[in-house]
Amino acid sequence: MSQLFNFSAGPAMLPVDVLKQAQEELLNWNGRGVSVMEISHRDPAYVRMAREAEQDLRDLLEVPDDYDVLFLQGGGRGQFSAVPQNIASADATVDYLDTGIWSGFAIREAGKFVSKVNVAGQVKEGARGKEVQSPADWQLSDNAAYFHYCPNETVDGIALHDIPLVNAPIVADMSSNILSEPLDVSKFGVIYAGAQKNIGPSGFAIAIVNKKLLGNPQKQVSSIMDYQLQAKDGSMYNTPNTFAWYLAGLVFKWLKAQGGLTAMGERNHHKARLLYDFVDKSDFYSNNINPDYRSIMNIPFQLADDKLDEAFLKGAEKEGLPGLKGHRFVGGMRASIYNAMPPEGIEALLSYMVDFERKLG
Ligand SMILES: *Cc1c(COP(=O)(O)O)cnc(C)c1O
Repeated sequence: MSQLFNFSAGPAMLPVDVLKQAQEELLNWNGRGVSVMEISHRDPAYVRMAREAEQDLRDLLEVPDDYDVLFLQGGGRGQFSAVPQNIASADATVDYLDTGIWSGFAIREAGKFVSKVNVAGQVKEGARGKEVQSPADWQLSDNAAYFHYCPNETVDGIALHDIPLVNAPIVADMSSNILSEPLDVSKFGVIYAGAQKNIGPSGFAIAIVNKKLLGNPQKQVSSIMDYQLQAKDGSMYNTPNTFAWYLAGLVFKWLKAQGGLTAMGERNHHKARLLYDFVDKSDFYSNNINPDYRSIMNIPFQLADDKLDEAFLKGAEKEGLPGLKGHRFVGGMRASIYNAMPPEGIEALLSYMVDFERKLG
């Protein structure tokens, strides 16, 4: 097989250069004769690496100084409960935008920790396909402790490209689009992300938190999920996932070497455009999302006849293009094209799609 391009939604493809470096260093990290997994997280060399990873992430996203950057555990979903417990009181009202499957999970989890979760807006069927209700139609609360949304719905392939204009602090689940393009962090109260799409191994999570929101966690918040405590301890209140942190650090250095988020954003928009343009011109493949709300990271598409889905996936796998099966909730196909997916991967997918349609379409 020539080069393989992995379209998995997550855990997802990592940059080959990063994996190679990790492989080279696996038995002997930093001249220590052991792997990075086998030394203390208090070891000065490890701490230096960990702080450098944080600084690289701050540089990439230009995180303002009044934000804490936390490296946590429990993945994206861990943050579904961490957010309300850290920045809302138990009797608070919180606003959530319900734009897809991940928003739905976040909404249900938040309901365990606050007295009212108000669903402020939803997805609807518009003339140009599925879209998010226009902000003018959102039902916002007067006194929400925060406003939560998921700018990139990984399963549905729906994205909100504009940061909402609301009065409450904005919390964003960026698990599948963090670091995909430049971002104005100062517009947000909390940004969080599970790591396994654009950052590194699963189980790991990042939270970027405006310090202003801290100081009043709910009484029962577990210490490892307590933002303020973790900030005070440099995200080492308990033993962090040292290997994931290390790997994330390599990914941040790789992103810097690629030219940072401006370069990544251009590359990602270009990759997505290639695929959407092809699907839109085709009579055999389709995508039913309003172009203004299309994700640049997760691109679902359907075949004209879903009886061909299996053959499409089998053939793709044989061509070195695994991971294209759509989520079990929505069916069809989905190409997840995170930062690590090179443009050549899109070209390989398109040429396979052309061939498949010619043979079986
Ligand atoms: C993958 C994903 C999650 C869940 O992450 P886990 O690490 O599995 O908890 C949450 N939100 C979004 C948008 C995701 O894509």
